[in-house]
Amino acid sequence: MSSLIEILNKRIDSIDPQAYGKYRNFIDGPVTQLSPYISRGVISTRYVLESLKAKGYSWNQLERLAQQLSWRDYFQRVYQHHPHLAANNVKNNPQHFVSNDIPKAISQGKTGILAIDQGIKTLLSEGVMHNHMRMYVAMLTTNIARTHWKSGADWMYYHLLDADIAANYLSWQWVCGAFSSKQYFANQENINRYTKLQQTNTFLDCEYEEFAEMEVPEIFMNRELWVSGDENSENNLPETIQLKMENLNNGMELSTWIQKLKNLSQEEHLPVYTVYNMDVQWYNHPNLPKVLLLDSDLLKKHPMSSKTLNFILDLSREFSNMVCYYGNWEELQQWLNTIHPKVNCVYKEHPSSKHYQGKKEERDWIAPQITKYFPSFFGYWKAYEKLKN
Ligand SMILES: Cc1cc2nc3c(=O)[nH]c(=O)nc-3n(C[C@H](O)[C@H](O)[C@H](O)COP(=O)(O)OP(=O)(O)OC[C@H]3O[C@@H](n4cnc5c(N)ncnc54)[C@H](O)[C@@H]3O)c2cc1C
Repeated sequence: MSSLIEILNKRIDSIDPQAYGKYRNFIDGPVTQLSPYISRGVISTRYVLESLKAKGYSWNQLERLAQQLSWRDYFQRVYQHHPHLAANNVKNNPQHFVSNDIPKAISQGKTGILAIDQGIKTLLSEGVMHNHMRMYVAMLTTNIARTHWKSGADWMYYHLLDADIAANYLSWQWVCGAFSSKQYFANQENINRYTKLQQTNTFLDCEYEEFAEMEVPEIFMNRELWVSGDENSENNLPETIQLKMENLNNGMELSTWIQKLKNLSQEEHLPVYTVYNMDVQWYNHPNLPKVLLLDSDLLKKHPMSSKTLNFILDLSREFSNMVCYYGNWEELQQWLNTIHPKVNCVYKEHPSSKHYQGKKEERDWIAPQITKYFPSFFGYWKAYEKLKN
């Protein structure tokens, strides 16, 4: 049976960067579908780009994909500078919202715009959505139904396998003008073009000039508060994990894991993986004990669906000797200290784990040198191009 990294390598190998550049905006276009793995930290943007460079593609051929991969890195950098971006506007304060409650027509995929309804239903059932569809849904929610971006972003984050605080919340802010200079709109003609449908006579079947004056369509009047309830995420965890811990390695006894932890020398580190760092090539030595921390503080603030949590638990089976712990950082430390009072943890940098202690290691970046805040992607990309040449 192939390991996950072999499967991902094959997928990277099958990317046609030129076709990607040409057709990626079409809903059935040749996108990579790598984001659940990139967002969960299994592989990095740099890994994908370097693998393709190694195949001999020229920069011209790779540029569009490199740009999209860099959008991801860019959002992560903005997150480092704006750790509260999931709650606060980063650049502007849009004034057009009329409600924090999401229209049921959107949360249930019954807007009447056929392509969008299909996109929402796929999100709810499979946890995936094409980038262009995400833009359509975010625009419908924030700019047409005039719902605050935070409500829509919380709802979408919950359902996505690739749920990522930076990419998700900043994209929602970008669409509604909180992280961009203008609101994004797409009319029915645009949606038809990229979804290859021919729907007409909808409330989006209009000229772009009409959007500014458009009343909120009747279909969006029935709303509900999207509750990312604190208990939600805990309820989504398998029962064993709600009981704090599960031995994830087929057949391995917890007592064996505890013995391995006790045997760790002072020079050795206990790697702590998280929902944002499941790097299969990081400290994944066969004998080393490992912890997957499902950080309860993070999951209460940003709940994930059971589909996403199960996806994460499935990924954890790629690691030997891994124990899954549900709790916050302090609780994990207290538990570890009862086993090994001098345990040294190692973890990867992420804005959501600023309070972790131990050895902090850098994430992998396409351009590790570019760390400063750029108010727009354009500036970030220019800095990268300069560096590259
Ligand atoms: C409203 C909205 C919400 C979003 N929420 C998330 C999210 O929670 N998690 C997430 O990973 N992405 C998010 N994105 C960005 C983007 O939609 C996804 O990364 C992309 O759809 C993933 O599919 P793919 O792997 O096939 O992408 P591809 O087009 O094949 O791109 C390759 C990789 O480049 C990166 N990338 C591509 N486009 C973008 C982009 N616009 N922004 C950031 N990175 C990009 C991703 O890591 C992606 O895996 C969101 C976009 C919007 C408009």
